[in-house]
Amino acid sequence: MSRRSSDVVEAKTLRWVCKRVYEAVQMDDQYDFDAVVIGAGFAGLYALYKLRDELNMRVRVYETGDGVGGTWYWNRYPGARCDSESYYYCYSFSPELAQEWEWSGRYPEQPEIERYLNHVADRFDLRPDIQLSTRVTAATFDDATNRWEISTDRGETVTARFLVTAVGCLSAPNVPDIAGLDRFEGEVYFTAKWPREGVDLTGKRVALIGTGSSGIQATPPIAAQAEQLTVFQRTPNFSLPARHGVFLAEHQASIKSNYDDIFAATRTSFAGFPFSPIDRATMSVSEEEREEILEELWAYGGFKFLWGGFSDLLIDPEANEIASEFIRSKIRETVEDADTAELLCPKGYPYGAKRPPIDTDYYDAFNRDNVTLVDISANPIEAITPTGLRTALVEYQFDAIVFATGFDAMTGSLLRIDMRGSDGVRLADKWQDGPRTLLGLQVAGFPNLFTITGPGSPSVLMNMPVAIEFHVDWIAACLEYMREHNWTRIEATEEAQDAWVEHVAEVGSHSLFVRANSWYVGANIPGKPRVVMPYAGGQPTYRERCNAVRDAGYEGFEFGADVRDEAVPAR
Ligand SMILES: Cc1cc2nc3c(=O)[nH]c(=O)nc-3n(C[C@H](O)[C@H](O)[C@H](O)COP(=O)(O)OP(=O)(O)OC[C@H]3O[C@@H](n4cnc5c(N)ncnc54)[C@H](O)[C@@H]3O)c2cc1C
Repeated sequence: MSRRSSDVVEAKTLRWVCKRVYEAVQMDDQYDFDAVVIGAGFAGLYALYKLRDELNMRVRVYETGDGVGGTWYWNRYPGARCDSESYYYCYSFSPELAQEWEWSGRYPEQPEIERYLNHVADRFDLRPDIQLSTRVTAATFDDATNRWEISTDRGETVTARFLVTAVGCLSAPNVPDIAGLDRFEGEVYFTAKWPREGVDLTGKRVALIGTGSSGIQATPPIAAQAEQLTVFQRTPNFSLPARHGVFLAEHQASIKSNYDDIFAATRTSFAGFPFSPIDRATMSVSEEEREEILEELWAYGGFKFLWGGFSDLLIDPEANEIASEFIRSKIRETVEDADTAELLCPKGYPYGAKRPPIDTDYYDAFNRDNVTLVDISANPIEAITPTGLRTALVEYQFDAIVFATGFDAMTGSLLRIDMRGSDGVRLADKWQDGPRTLLGLQVAGFPNLFTITGPGSPSVLMNMPVAIEFHVDWIAACLEYMREHNWTRIEATEEAQDAWVEHVAEVGSHSLFVRANSWYVGANIPGKPRVVMPYAGGQPTYRERCNAVRDAGYEGFEFGADVRDEAVPAR
């Protein structure tokens, strides 16, 4: 070979090497992360902060929406607001954040909570590591490298050591399969995907389908705007008055000076509220005293009726029936038309067995001349027509249909991702008879995957920011432990998972959640396995179990080192 041609070969080789190095650097810089987090709601934002700022990890968050906020980005329907009270429906991890943020009142509406979560994203400089308008479509675990390969709907593929799902328990909207929906000539809206620019229903004949929390919140404001509102109800709900009110300066000051105690109480109470059922059984007081206590709780409003009055509402059927009948009496007192009132009175399942809504003037709305209630339990909707909808008995004409039909709860968003674990096993196959997790935090066969507020944890039975912070902190502690021990792989064992799933089922079977057809048990989604998905044993027992597992060196989990490192002989 002449000197000249060997120069060319060397130059080519050099170029090839440079290209590979450049690609490797690129790959390392842009396409390989310590952790990928899916979702930018309460859970995803805190997970990013914790892993990036406290554990110094390289993190990428993917979010389908074009803004942060999760639930509070998507649910913009009229009347959307939280039903936990503002001052504890928030983060507690940063005392400075808690002190500087001003809540306007007891139950802020969606725009205010969305503003709060945007403030959090800015305050902690989270945005550079969040990629919006990007849906994760698939995730596959590679046993050879102990990494996840994650694909998005924008055609990207990245890898990450850990995959953390913050996809939300109530984020996969349920679109009912009603014949003719695509032929409706009017406007169609879903409460869970309400248009950002808002909707003007003035002068319109509106159908509202669904009377869960969203339908109940949306009814009064839509009734106030529409010419005619027809509410289609399959199952009536026990709704309690919120008693919303604005915070005065002295409220703000008193909350802020007590935040340490308030947050401490949310972490020890049964369901993440700053109050627990007091130690008083329903039958331990006289009938008059009982009535007085129930009246006080009704006047106070919100979840305190369930969590702050009697200790046995969720345990003793007789106690529950007293509370249920009290609520029915309030519905009958409020709704002027006796037949409508009776239709609105829930029967056949106990109070609390479905997620109890909190409302502002829901029952009063049925006293308006322009509001009608239609019972579809006996006469279901048969079809949407081009101009309205049809039940077996009546054909209705509408300009707009609003679906408040809830979510494929707890598992929907996880299963909408094509998730494949060790040896290519599909999550959808693993969960075909219902979700199986260890502590709602990991799934056997899916190493290095963490599921924030996953099924099998108290999640939706709690005030959720408290559940979310606990999970993120637990995951972060676990990752630190792995770092200390040079482990790169963690996986729940099948045995530990089986035992936890059995415990969750056992506790669930003794709870009153089995006595209603609710989304807690998947009953709102045709074909979904009927399983009590959240852990019903309460926060204290759950925390104790998670902490004991951690203190025992993550008992029930197996750790491993990087297979690739072992396979490459040392030079
Ligand atoms: C109307 C309404 C009111 C509520 N009120 C309360 C309340 O008062 N108190 C309470 O405790 N809880 C309430 N909840 C429950 C609420 O969901 C939680 O409190 C909390 O907001 C959950 O936060 P999250 O981050 O876990 O999930 P979310 O806020 O649901 O965020 C999950 C995010 O993940 C994104 N995502 C999902 N899949 C993918 C994917 N494949 N790729 C990319 N992004 C994805 C979604 O777009 C979403 O933005 C309410 C829920 C609703 C719907």
